[in-house]
Amino acid sequence: MKSFRVFRRALPGKVIWAVSPRSPLSASTVLRRISTSASYQNPAPNANVSKSDSGRLVPPSAIYNRPDGLQLETPVEENRNVLPWFWLRDNCRCMSCVNQDTMQRNFKTFDIPADIKASEAIREETGVRVKWSDGHESFYPWGFINAYTTSGRRSNLVNSHERIYFGAEIASSPPQVYYQSVMGAKQGLADMTNKIIKYGFVFVTGTPFDDPEKTKELLERIAFIRETHYGGFYDFTPDLAMADTAYTNLALPAHTDTTYFTEPAGLQAFHLLSHTPAPGADKAAQAAEGGKSLLVDGFHAAKILQEEDPEAFNVLATKGVLWHASGNKDISITPYKLFPVIERYGKVLQRIRWNNDDRGVLPLDRPSGWNNTAISATAWYDAARKWDEILRRKEMECWIQLKPGSVLIFDNWRVLHGRSAFEGIRRICGGYINRDDFISRWKHSNFNEQLVHNSVRG
Ligand SMILES: [Zn+2]
Repeated sequence: MKSFRVFRRALPGKVIWAVSPRSPLSASTVLRRISTSASYQNPAPNANVSKSDSGRLVPPSAIYNRPDGLQLETPVEENRNVLPWFWLRDNCRCMSCVNQDTMQRNFKTFDIPADIKASEAIREETGVRVKWSDGHESFYPWGFINAYTTSGRRSNLVNSHERIYFGAEIASSPPQVYYQSVMGAKQGLADMTNKIIKYGFVFVTGTPFDDPEKTKELLERIAFIRETHYGGFYDFTPDLAMADTAYTNLALPAHTDTTYFTEPAGLQAFHLLSHTPAPGADKAAQAAEGGKSLLVDGFHAAKILQEEDPEAFNVLATKGVLWHASGNKDISITPYKLFPVIERYGKVLQRIRWNNDDRGVLPLDRPSGWNNTAISATAWYDAARKWDEILRRKEMECWIQLKPGSVLIFDNWRVLHGRSAFEGIRRICGGYINRDDFISRWKHSNFNEQLVHNSVRG
């Protein structure tokens, strides 16, 4: 039996350690930081490894070939340092196991014997080489191994990316990019999508406003426009043909759009193409006609709520709420389940869903009922009142006058929008873009192909 054969191969040259004994941080903290960092550079890929898989060199000090898996002597929590053999075989990174055109798994997982084992596991400088009992050979870069011993998945790049919360002050210097740069080289697109991730919105200045098609082309630089029951790319002036308050001149408090979809629109764009004064209005009246746009950083507001009233935050992040769209003939839309106002993945804020007008009837509390919570309606109203108060704070409200030539694109999962009342006729065009399509474009314009593949394939 060779099962417990120990491999302790000295590395040629100097061992590069991720963890210094003098480091004030815990070993697992350091490893996690390395494995989730979006900015690290990968070493040259091993020739035997599929193109998305080389990773940072963080070798364990030893590896052990156990009956149940590959054990690593590495500073992670207990039970996370044994990788089951079948898991390793199923996740072989080699060029025949990963279709190099589609990056899909290229073999039948369940044709592999459930008890497959390594005949040999060899610790190499850049990763571990496994020779299987059926003759196949696999190589796993340390970057891949480390990601799974320290985390549940490889970094999706978004959750570890820098976000800067904004308030009223950002109105004086909002994030901007130039239309020409976005429509030109990839760097302009990278800059635009990155600002949306970082700040939640961006203005694209210098956009032609004599032809709405130019705005459509700009949005399609990110991804195709999402169709809804209101249509796809829109170009409208207010009337009540469509029964929604957005089509009137009324003020609208801060809200997110399409709360009534299981997956609300990811991005939204507005472009004010023209604003014609009301008939008979003089110059002074024109200047006072309003129609300023309001942006509120929902993640910032959620953070404030969490700090000031953790219980209220917990209520809004837990209790499911009914949302609906019912105002158009033959259209009745509601998500497949009740969704809370604040959604997180782990501790990272993911989505704000807030339009009080589109909110249905709040469920009453049930001890362990349909809503999976025992949060009372009264507790929810108390929490939502606090949330509403934070959203209306002057220091939270970013007011910006839309102008022809300046396209506002914002993250509808993060930023709430609204407007003041206005007079006259505004012609506005815009559209929605799906979240996943936006994130894909952001990744492909900002990161190398290898990191992008790692972030989606694992
Ligand atoms: Zn393979």
